[in-house]
Amino acid sequence: MATAVEEKVVDLEHDHFYDSGKVTVDGATMRCWKAGGHGDQTFLQVLQNSCNLVAEQEIPNTLKKSPKIKEKLMI
Ligand SMILES: [Zn+2]
Repeated sequence: MATAVEEKVVDLEHDHFYDSGKVTVDGATMRCWKAGGHGDQTFLQVLQNSCNLVAEQEIPNTLKKSPKIKEKLMI
């Protein structure tokens, strides 16, 4: 994650991520440590809230989907 910020592919205050409290990946349910989730958060708030769900699931997914980031990472 630190790399994503340093490379400026993620904007701390303008990129939003939604935490609904749980995400199902390949049939396995991943949960945020906070029951019910954190709701809408900026990237900065994700870090401040230590939101494990967004950090581990939503951000990697978002990074993979972005053409700009794909180009940078040369995926
Ligand atoms: Zn959360």
